[in-house]
Amino acid sequence: MFFRDKHCPTCHGSGTQVFRPLTPKELEAVEADRGDLWRCTGEGCRWYQPWHKQRDGGLLPEELKIQATATEPA
Ligand SMILES: [Zn+2]
Repeated sequence: MFFRDKHCPTCHGSGTQVFRPLTPKELEAVEADRGDLWRCTGEGCRWYQPWHKQRDGGLLPEELKIQATATEPA
């Protein structure tokens, strides 16, 4: 699988974010059955969208947002 950079409408800041395809769990959460949905991997982000149609995107449930990547205490 490959990653691409795309602008995210809900991540503020400069430049683009890395997107990846939705996982089966994420697809289930948004009740979608299609293979062209991608999500932003920005920290704390829940944005997903069809690759070419940002206006058809939306937000994943809160529990599926990207967690902070900070190292956890051992
Ligand atoms: Zn984002």
